[in-house]
Amino acid sequence: MAVETQQAPQPTHDVEPIHRDRLYIGGEWVEPSGGGRIEVIDSTTEQVMGSVPEGGPEDVDRAVSAARGAFESWSQTEVEQRSKLMRSVSQALGARMEEIAALISREVGMPYGLSQAIQAGLPAMTFGSMADLILDAELEEQVGNSLVVREPVGVVGCITPWNYPLHQICAKVAPALAAGCTVVVKPSEVTPLNAFVLAEILEEAGLPAGCFNLVTGFGPVVGEAIAAHGDVDMVSFTGSTAAGKRVSEVASQTVKRVALELGGKSPNVILDDANLEAAVVDGMGKCYLNSGQTCSALTRMLVPRERLPEAEQIAAAVAQQLKVADPFEPDANLGPLVSDTQRERVRGYIRKGVEEGAKLVAGGEDPPEGRDQGYFVQPTVFSEVAPGMTIAQEEIFGPVLAIMPYDSEDEAVQIANDTVYGLAGGVWSGDPEHAKRVARRLRTGQVEINGAAFNPLAPFGGFKQSGHGRELGKFGLEEFLEVKSIQL
Ligand code: NAD
Repeated sequence: MAVETQQAPQPTHDVEPIHRDRLYIGGEWVEPSGGGRIEVIDSTTEQVMGSVPEGGPEDVDRAVSAARGAFESWSQTEVEQRSKLMRSVSQALGARMEEIAALISREVGMPYGLSQAIQAGLPAMTFGSMADLILDAELEEQVGNSLVVREPVGVVGCITPWNYPLHQICAKVAPALAAGCTVVVKPSEVTPLNAFVLAEILEEAGLPAGCFNLVTGFGPVVGEAIAAHGDVDMVSFTGSTAAGKRVSEVASQTVKRVALELGGKSPNVILDDANLEAAVVDGMGKCYLNSGQTCSALTRMLVPRERLPEAEQIAAAVAQQLKVADPFEPDANLGPLVSDTQRERVRGYIRKGVEEGAKLVAGGEDPPEGRDQGYFVQPTVFSEVAPGMTIAQEEIFGPVLAIMPYDSEDEAVQIANDTVYGLAGGVWSGDPEHAKRVARRLRTGQVEINGAAFNPLAPFGGFKQSGHGRELGKFGLEEFLEVKSIQL
């Protein structure tokens, strides 16, 4: 029997704008308290692609009270029930993968193929992993005469950024719901549309009313109202270090638990016994993923001084071959940046690099040829970047690589650790044991050796000002559990 396969339609920018008029609170689509709207811009066409309500503190109050009301019964459900729900959400996310990928390609600008694998693929995988992990979680243990139990932490406020928008929401919502918590989500105002797809999926999957609530709006208004709320037990924040500090400050007034996933300026240490070509090529991919708008991007490439000219040559050749194009063009390597603001910020850093005396090896601040519309930036490589330069210290969040020479391994480690951040890192060596020794010296939450693959079950999070707390896998689930001792 012939099986008819349905060809997915080719995604396009030419679709009707998506206007979402309501917030999802207490299991219903409700009118927002105010009339303000936030427009969402397609990063390639610079046209309005939709809009969402501009929520306010009253909406946060309603959402928190719905989450509080739902907590008692949701937290008491059997783990099997929660696991089953996580599994059906994972399947539903999988079924809408193409729609989600296309939507996020338009919101963020990531090439569609990558968007399918990462922007749409990771959320489905995270819900699937939590379906398994909650069944395996050790929720009770005996310590002497105490029964130690792990209970859901309570009502969780989730505040998320725009670069991997649905992944970052699901990295909080999936473990929180699996643990038995209820949530109030505030997505980034720059890329809020994908969050509405998740709300629809959770509703269709039969999640009880009030367990998941969605309030769109601006950070200083809706985000701070969540962080300050006396009835929110925990705030889980992903975003910039500056906003994370503010969230901590506001949340401290009610002594709630705070988890912070913040910025990075991650080093990629190429040791003298490494395959330089493989290391530079792979490292550039890790720097430029999502046009450099990746918190764990390997943006500082540390190279033995005597191999600097060779590294520059390889990097320049790679940068020239990269295709900067509309995310829906099949062979696009880099799409546009998310917004005009972000493009101007990145161009400012490129100017700063030149002013401070770094050597421009490829790219620059002008738009890529033929790309006057859309927030495109050329893939840029600086070399001879000194540790004190602005482009060696500050998170740029664009396709800008800083190559930094070093004279000894100790100096390489010292430079690698010499920023306020500590999110990710890489080490390259012909000898895996050598690489591991150096990896252990890096003050970062993750290190990959010789370009090893991202592991969606490994704990993800920062040292130093990259934050605290871990997401994903079993460590990510534990973030949403509180420990209680019952003496027997
Ligand atoms: P951002 O800090 O501007 O915004 C993140 C979220 O916080 C948004 O929802 C925003 O509305 C909200 N917000 C802003 N000010 C707030 C305030 N005063 N109180 C409460 N909420 C507030 O960050 P962004 O520009 O959306 O994202 C980029 C940043 O996120 C980068 O610094 C990047 O490194 C970081 N990031 C970190 C991780 C990680 O896991 N460590 C992952 C992705 C992104």
